[in-house]
Amino acid sequence: MEERIVTNQEHTLDQKLQDDLIRPKFLKDFQGQQELKDNLKIFITASKDREQTLDHVFISGPPGLGKTTLASIIANEMDAEIKMTSAPALEKPKDLAGILTTIKEGSIFFIDEIHRLRPVLEEMLYIAMEDFEIDWVIGQGPAARTIRVPIPQFTMIGATTKAGKVAAPLYTRFGITSRIGFYQEEELQHIISRSARIIGASISDEAVVTLSRCSRGTPRIANRLLRRLRDYAEVLGDGIITPAIVTDGLERLGIDHHGLDALDIRILETIIDFYHGGPVGAETLAISVGEAIESLEDFYEPYLIQKGYLKRTPRGRMVTEKAYELLHRSNKEPHEDQRLLF
Ligand code: ADP
Repeated sequence: MEERIVTNQEHTLDQKLQDDLIRPKFLKDFQGQQELKDNLKIFITASKDREQTLDHVFISGPPGLGKTTLASIIANEMDAEIKMTSAPALEKPKDLAGILTTIKEGSIFFIDEIHRLRPVLEEMLYIAMEDFEIDWVIGQGPAARTIRVPIPQFTMIGATTKAGKVAAPLYTRFGITSRIGFYQEEELQHIISRSARIIGASISDEAVVTLSRCSRGTPRIANRLLRRLRDYAEVLGDGIITPAIVTDGLERLGIDHHGLDALDIRILETIIDFYHGGPVGAETLAISVGEAIESLEDFYEPYLIQKGYLKRTPRGRMVTEKAYELLHRSNKEPHEDQRLLF
């Protein structure tokens, strides 16, 4: 199956192995997010000095920006074990209780997509986070009773692409809250050069710069593009990724020099052509472009908004003047196809 570069989908096993190689293991290798790193360094040092577990950490931000990476870095920096899961994988209270009762003292428990945790599990988790105890029901029917079971002290790390959807009682249990934003081009250049060194890809300095501009401010995409461009360089060129290979390769992958792919363009075109530039509700828009709403909201929109092509308003999504310019459209006149509808 062809690998979709600009996506938030899961990886194949081979890509996962390569990702593990590239994934930074310590804070010193984690590029960008300086303020967040500085704070984490202080909190980690302080809790190590006091020989206490680190306070619970909440990390939000769009996919591919390093939330999972940061969780495993925190574990490495704390010299602690880490258990990783994601909220949709936890179905019943016993799934969560099984982890919480067997977790080692001082270790890290990472839950991805924490906004998707079921309410009954959420309640169990916030008691666990606050009191290091869980409520456990024994017996059935009228004879059933709840007992409080102590559990080892641990650090919870919760990650989400939708901070606003995390219930307040759970959110307030996190002592350290952070947000990861899109990366600057220069930061991506460091990431690309480091990854190229690790996977043994030859890339010119100029090509690193070009590639950093088309990576949607996202390390995961920069790394994926690097791997595909290495293939193009080896098969179509002399093995070195040059700016020409980047330009040609991106064209073959359907990505423009702003890092936008066909679906980004379709989203903007749909709003202009069928909704007169907006506003249009997210669900209607998702159906119109044929993409899942989660993917539209978590992945496509944040970058289009950050680049100034799209706006979220209380009445729905609207394109900006910049989007009309990008698509060479006038925002006065309906598009030709649209005129045919009248
Ligand atoms: P998320 O959990 O936010 O979806 P990941 O932590 O899985 O993102 O990061 C995706 C990939 O991007 C990782 O494999 C890692 O190699 C790379 N990456 C992410 N953030 C950084 C960073 N700050 N510096 C270097 N590489 C990074």
